[in-house]
Amino acid sequence: MSKGNISVSENIFPIIKKWLYSDKDIFLRELVSNGCDAITKLKKLSSLGEAEIEDNPQYKIEITCDKDNKKLIISDNGIGMTAEEIDKYINQIAFSGAADFLEKYKDNSDDNAQIIGHFGLGFYSAFMVAEKVQIDTLSYIDGAAPVKWECDGSMEYEISEGSRTTRGTTITLFIAEDSKEFLEEYTVRSVLNKYCSFLPVEIYFYTNGKEESDDAENKPINDTVPLWMKNPKDCTDEDYKAFYTKVFMDFTPPLFWIHLNVDYPFNLKGILYFPKLTHELNGAEGQIKLYNNQVFVADNVKEVIPEFLMLLKGVIDCPDLPLNVSRSFLQNDGYVKKISAHITKKIADKLTELYKKERDNYNTYWDDIHIFIKYGCMRDEKFYEKVKDILIYKNTNGNYVGLHEYLEGKNDKNVYYVSDEKQQAQYINMFKEHNLDALILPTMIDTHFISFIEMKEDGVRFKRIDSNLSDILTDDKNNNEEKNKALCDLFKKTLNIEDLKIEVQGLKNAEIPAVILLSEESRRMREMYKAYGQSMASMTAMFKDEFTLVLNSSNPLIQKLDGLNDEDKKLACEHIYDLAMISHKPLDGEHMTKFIERSNLLLNKLF
Ligand code: ADP
Repeated sequence: MSKGNISVSENIFPIIKKWLYSDKDIFLRELVSNGCDAITKLKKLSSLGEAEIEDNPQYKIEITCDKDNKKLIISDNGIGMTAEEIDKYINQIAFSGAADFLEKYKDNSDDNAQIIGHFGLGFYSAFMVAEKVQIDTLSYIDGAAPVKWECDGSMEYEISEGSRTTRGTTITLFIAEDSKEFLEEYTVRSVLNKYCSFLPVEIYFYTNGKEESDDAENKPINDTVPLWMKNPKDCTDEDYKAFYTKVFMDFTPPLFWIHLNVDYPFNLKGILYFPKLTHELNGAEGQIKLYNNQVFVADNVKEVIPEFLMLLKGVIDCPDLPLNVSRSFLQNDGYVKKISAHITKKIADKLTELYKKERDNYNTYWDDIHIFIKYGCMRDEKFYEKVKDILIYKNTNGNYVGLHEYLEGKNDKNVYYVSDEKQQAQYINMFKEHNLDALILPTMIDTHFISFIEMKEDGVRFKRIDSNLSDILTDDKNNNEEKNKALCDLFKKTLNIEDLKIEVQGLKNAEIPAVILLSEESRRMREMYKAYGQSMASMTAMFKDEFTLVLNSSNPLIQKLDGLNDEDKKLACEHIYDLAMISHKPLDGEHMTKFIERSNLLLNKLF
């Protein structure tokens, strides 16, 4: 037996415990992947003829949760370690690694805690949950002696003769009182499922009382060849859908997917799914799982994956990612940038292919993918450049058109749009009567997106359908300046609404006495302020809405107003205004009450 002192100037255990507290469960990932590495190394040596092993070895990692004895045991039949190796890899190297680590992250901020939590500290993370750790190992080398290493979380370790009779390593964790949850079958199983579901070596899980021979338990808990590692040629649509359901617990089949499979100039594998949205908000609930050599690292690591991809669901495996470094380093890492650029390009390519080869499908997907695409365009200039020609819009005729298709044959670059089909129904009808169409842009993101497109596309101006009538005016045959002025004055006096503009126009549709227009600019300002969380009260104080009441000189009611007595004239003016307003937006309480009272009054006049 020998004893020794760990060669680092400070005791790092309290620090490990404290820093890693939030993400304690990664200790299991670290230990299981060490076992997996040990097996990979042995396989490699054996394939090179440098290690002699049994025929058809069944490589595996076994995890036993022994609640009665407060132990969690992780055992592999990999390469094993000799006493010298333990000294080199466990006593020294790892600690010097940890010392470097300490040096690097001296300023113990919360952000750092997260980094470590996500990316691990290797073997020593075992001390997050164990008061004592024991290694019992036998090297593959012929004639090697088994070695036992023990450490109770102080700076002292003890090495003695081990008891393993077969090649491999057993790590026994004596679980500390404050980490008792890791003695519960359910907890351990869910941690294994989270991190180890796709590890390349079979993993078996046992609890004390249930032995290896129990059939039900005797199946590996993991899938050693996950779909993303396979050649796309060998994967069917059903495979992709089943994988999606299993990994994301989403039973609505995805729309389509992209299988990433790159070996050069970097290593990247993965599958990205475009989920079907049930409603708009779901768009923000994507999930990208990041793996490192089939070991789960974390969800939605924004330093590695372009932000807008977070609206998708998928798995990405980047074996070469330097995950033990800080997140700010990752952000500036050229390798990470290349990965992002590659993924972005692949997505743009896939969308372009769909647009060109399956336009009908592309149209039907649009309602589900437009948020992602629009967001992507605004977040990533390169993505916009790649997809700008395949951006489409649903129009009021139910077709999907590109901007160039919409503008075809028009003299100007005004793009009319609808933000609420029900509320703006009357305007839509007026447009349709003139064989005009408008684009339907109802979602939150559209408000920002139209400003973005206006910036990008020279001369293009988006105008909400209720902001402007210039395209549907007729030459006003009844145009009579004097008469019009008298009409405006009448309404102004009767309605007595300070900031209401009133004008007379001849509309083709004679049935409508008046319409309300709201200036595009003032509405957008208002929306912008709303988005920044300003209260309605302060907004009302800041800008008056620029409403215009357009009286239709082609309408018989408007034409005959003059013939009414003063009292009826007043009623008619108010009612015409209210009807125009109602077609624009719902009336508020008081306004509505007055409208109903007046409607009753008017009905009474019929009898
Ligand atoms: P890392 O895995 O990042 O190298 P660790 O602290 O987890 O860091 O492990 C240090 C070293 O100890 C490993 O590189 C390996 O050589 C050795 N080691 C750890 N676990 C095992 C194991 N189960 N079998 C064989 N060697 C191991």
